[in-house]
Amino acid sequence: MPYRAPVADMIATLKHAAGLEQSLAQGLYGELGLDDITAILDEAGKFAGERIAPLNRVGDREGAHFHDGTVTMPHGWKEVYSDWTAAGWNGLMAEEALGGQGLPCVINSACLEMWNAASGAFGLGPLLTQGAIEALQAHAAPELKAKYLPKMISGEWTGTMNLTEPQAGSDLSALRSRAERVGDGTYRITGQKIFITYGEHDLTENIIHLVLARLPDAPPGTKGISLFLVPKFLVNEDGSLGARNDVRCHSIEHKLGVHASPTCTMVYGDAGGAIGWLVGEENRGLMAMFTMMNNARLAVALQGVSIAERATQKALAFAAERRQGKAPGWEAEGMSPIIEHPDVKRMLATMRASTQAARAICYMLAAEIDRAHLARTPEERKAGHARASLLTPIAKAYSTDIGNEVASLGVQVHGGMGFVEETGAAQHMRDARIYAIYEGTNGIQAIDLVSRKIGIEGGALVAAEIARMRGIVADVAKSNAVEFGLTASRLRETVDALETATKHLLGALANNPADAQAGATPFTRLFGLALGGTALAQKALKMRANGVSDLARAEATGLARFFAENLATAAPGLAETVVTGGQAVVDLDIPLAS
Ligand SMILES: Cc1cc2nc3c(=O)[nH]c(=O)nc-3n(C[C@H](O)[C@H](O)[C@H](O)COP(=O)(O)OP(=O)(O)OC[C@H]3O[C@@H](n4cnc5c(N)ncnc54)[C@H](O)[C@@H]3O)c2cc1C
Repeated sequence: MPYRAPVADMIATLKHAAGLEQSLAQGLYGELGLDDITAILDEAGKFAGERIAPLNRVGDREGAHFHDGTVTMPHGWKEVYSDWTAAGWNGLMAEEALGGQGLPCVINSACLEMWNAASGAFGLGPLLTQGAIEALQAHAAPELKAKYLPKMISGEWTGTMNLTEPQAGSDLSALRSRAERVGDGTYRITGQKIFITYGEHDLTENIIHLVLARLPDAPPGTKGISLFLVPKFLVNEDGSLGARNDVRCHSIEHKLGVHASPTCTMVYGDAGGAIGWLVGEENRGLMAMFTMMNNARLAVALQGVSIAERATQKALAFAAERRQGKAPGWEAEGMSPIIEHPDVKRMLATMRASTQAARAICYMLAAEIDRAHLARTPEERKAGHARASLLTPIAKAYSTDIGNEVASLGVQVHGGMGFVEETGAAQHMRDARIYAIYEGTNGIQAIDLVSRKIGIEGGALVAAEIARMRGIVADVAKSNAVEFGLTASRLRETVDALETATKHLLGALANNPADAQAGATPFTRLFGLALGGTALAQKALKMRANGVSDLARAEATGLARFFAENLATAAPGLAETVVTGGQAVVDLDIPLAS
């Protein structure tokens, strides 16, 4: 089943759920118009479907090859990567002065979704390079930027993100890698990093590692971590490559999914110390790395959307072909296609509606990131930044959970054939699993939402979000459209549930933090349901008003109604779990296995 980029829904979501038209009207995106955006997405969709998607299978089967410190990518990957960078796709969001295209985050996000839907293992390399570019743009000294950024932006060199060590995963305060000042402006880095994505490969001639390490006199914990740029090959003054740096790939992991993405154990400083340059200020490395991580969190959220879209397309095609039994009301000869069975239709509707809801949340977040950078007034930029901070953990956790659930439903729709590797549905399920784990596990995202985000502006930010969602609910009710069924009532109950749970958590944070953390994951799902459900309803309302085709209107309205009446109905139960269930978690003694 080939991948077809859902450009029409991407544009509809950008317009009707992520405020694209207002952003264009406010001049946020300069000369760029809707036609330009559509043309870019069409082109990206073509490249993703025709060139990248065929790599997905071979990447899964062959995987990345490790031999004696070198990594060779699967058959055909190098050529496609080279054509992809030559077409300029790597530097979409990067500064124009350094060779990038200077395009907004909303366009980059739609494109990221496509690269990753075509092949998650392919999309992962550029995703990390983009994060490294952003961190360097924001924090590196001018001479470092001049030396490294143009080739990273063009894609001639890739970038990595080196945080994790065996004893330091979610908790980076335990980090042990060391950096010594040499006195000539450089540092010597020693230590071991694990799970480093694209830490070694043969797609490009150089790899630029961003590495977290501690100086000898650094304070303990996260306040004593610095960020360093460590190239695989040193770069001469004229830009040519010099000696090999003291960094090597020790091995790569054998994994459940994303087989073609090399996950490397990296060793720094076997021969006295890898040469590195400080990025930003000493001991402020985690802050600099967070620049990279926040954008990377949106990118991983989009990986969740991408795998859900890919799995849904596959399941829909299979369900239209496969015939079994007779669905209620099936009058024709023989067995009906399984898509006619209400239970299968429910699975497919869950897949489609959940994917579109997650897409809407991610694109809303991308629009706020643009507002934070491009809005005219400091007040608007501040507001964009605040809302982006709130939406980031929800987008990451909700969308990647949806990626997992939808990929699993995709296997179910295929029946026994879904469990068989040849079909391809199983690969989506295996690939999806990591998205909920890296870039901060979804549990860590939920705790971030509860302990740092809902209290922003004393709770006023969430209150404004709830008021915005209530406005959409009122508009659905006012539309009086019979096709919406009980959408308004169900979404009202969802938003009520979110408000109740938020109030409980704001109180619990001060008095009973364990209770608050125990409720964090169900709360994040509840927030995602409210945001996703209202976004689908708003999109459907606007599509109804904008005279799109009958089919598109009917699908948008039907999916919004399905989501409200079948998925958002979990909201009151989730609120109960948050309000009364957390204490049960706190009180529970799980006996250790004897
Ligand atoms: C394929 C792959 C690619 C990766 N790529 C990179 C990369 O490029 N660069 C990089 O630096 N790292 C990378 N990682 C590492 C990844 O970011 C970590 O695995 C992840 O952050 C989780 O850390 P951990 O594995 O140590 O799990 P742990 O931190 O040990 O967590 C285990 C479990 O405990 C929970 N937990 C931990 N602490 C808390 C807490 N305080 N409160 C509540 N729950 C908690 C977690 O949610 C999780 O469920 C990659 C990992 C994989 C598998």
